[in-house]
Amino acid sequence: MSAGACIFCKIARNEIPAKKVYEDAEVFAFNDIRPQAPVHFLVVPRQHIVSLAEVDATHAALLGKMFTLIGQLARAQGCENGFRTIVNTGRVGGQEVYHLHVHVIGGSEPLPAMLKW
Ligand code: 5GP
Ligand code: ZN
Repeated sequence: MSAGACIFCKIARNEIPAKKVYEDAEVFAFNDIRPQAPVHFLVVPRQHIVSLAEVDATHAALLGKMFTLIGQLARAQGCENGFRTIVNTGRVGGQEVYHLHVHVIGGSEPLPAMLKW
């Protein structure tokens, strides 16, 4: 999918409303529309990277920045005692939106089992 049609690119450009909890020139974060827990937001690069499978060395600083932000954003949303991060990737990973994003989930204690296989 092109960046023009991508739903997260549209949220980045404020063409679709979302409850943003953070934004800067490279990264933004907003509440998931179908929360799986009391706290559930997505951390997203403005750059349209399709998935974690497409990441390469040119993205290292950007991904480092995203992961540097997550702890402080999670604490600001009330996850003082921990949270879960998930990056669904590709068909097998159950990825729905093909623009790289990190789910940050918390606010209930304990969270359910990580995987039911
Ligand atoms: P994925 O399965 O790709 O890892 O997760 C995509 C997530 O994006 C889902 O949890 C879904 O609820 C969320 N989502 C999809 N469309 C929208 C939207 O238009 N607004 C918001 N805030 N979240 C969305
Ligand atoms: Zn996009």
